[in-house]
Amino acid sequence: MTTRYIDAGVNLTSSQFDEIRDEVVLRAQQVGVDNMLLIGSDVEDSTHSLQLACHYGFVCTAGIHPHNAKDASSDYLTHLCQLLSQPEVVAVGECGLDFNRDFSPRSQQINVLSEQLSLAQQLGMPVYLHERDAFESMSTVLEQMNVHGVLHCFTGDKTALEFYLNYGLMIGITGWVCDERRGAQLQQLVPLIPDDKLLIETDAPYLLPRTLKPKPKSRRNEPAFVIEVVRQIAQLRGQSIEHVAQISHDNFNRLFMAEGELP
Ligand SMILES: [Zn+2]
Repeated sequence: MTTRYIDAGVNLTSSQFDEIRDEVVLRAQQVGVDNMLLIGSDVEDSTHSLQLACHYGFVCTAGIHPHNAKDASSDYLTHLCQLLSQPEVVAVGECGLDFNRDFSPRSQQINVLSEQLSLAQQLGMPVYLHERDAFESMSTVLEQMNVHGVLHCFTGDKTALEFYLNYGLMIGITGWVCDERRGAQLQQLVPLIPDDKLLIETDAPYLLPRTLKPKPKSRRNEPAFVIEVVRQIAQLRGQSIEHVAQISHDNFNRLFMAEGELP
């Protein structure tokens, strides 16, 4: 049996994929990637993600990324609700806090996050969370809520990992873990994630795995390269590639496909 993979986070709407989107999806499918979670980062982008999810037979998120919190319209929650009522839309997000780049004022990031978490809680849907250099505020917000889902592209320290796991979230690991310099801490933490909490994602077209050989000339990441992230994680955890691919698959289906679209 060929190993099946999932990419639990792709920015397939990115203009970097314009012209080559079909090829990129086909290349992923040819190496065994049979499902993807397409990320939405504002209302318009989430609408585009939904179109692509319907077209290719994948699933997607709908939400406001912290970078876009400052541009959220006064009625954005109504738009998100409409998107979230579609069967292909399986999570609220990408939402969260990014105090690394601070593209939106922090108070606004916190408000827009809190509103989306309340919506997820109300709908009983998982959240797809982003956190960069904002653990303290994120943990404070989460403690006031009762949500489930995934902390995507985890890059934090051991304290943050333990908090998110204790809270009940799954942990999304990207090709960040393939970076021998800035991923060094993450490489130490990856073996501490229980089998039933690990999700694997590319965050393509960003975060091309540095261990990938040969590297594409474009330097653009794509979902087919999730295999390289799985390989690196398997090595760090002392597990087989097949096992890691399987648990990521199982966790994805349990979290996002509970309505029974996949076995
Ligand atoms: Zn993110």
